[in-house]
Amino acid sequence: MKGSFLCPVCKESAAPVSDDSPFFPFCSESCRDRDLGGWLRNQYRIGGRRARSDELPETDESAQQ
Ligand SMILES: [Zn+2]
Repeated sequence: MKGSFLCPVCKESAAPVSDDSPFFPFCSESCRDRDLGGWLRNQYRIGGRRARSDELPETDESAQQ
């Protein structure tokens, strides 16, 4: 399966992305950054502190060290 992937950020108008692109699966650095930035922002907005403390029980870990 080589060849035509569409950029997940601007897929409406994107040219196909080749899988040897340094920004794969995005068409460009700006799209990659936009997607990553949006993802991180969503994580912070949705998860916030509660999700992080649920996943990382700090009390046990720090007690051992
Ligand atoms: Zn793009």
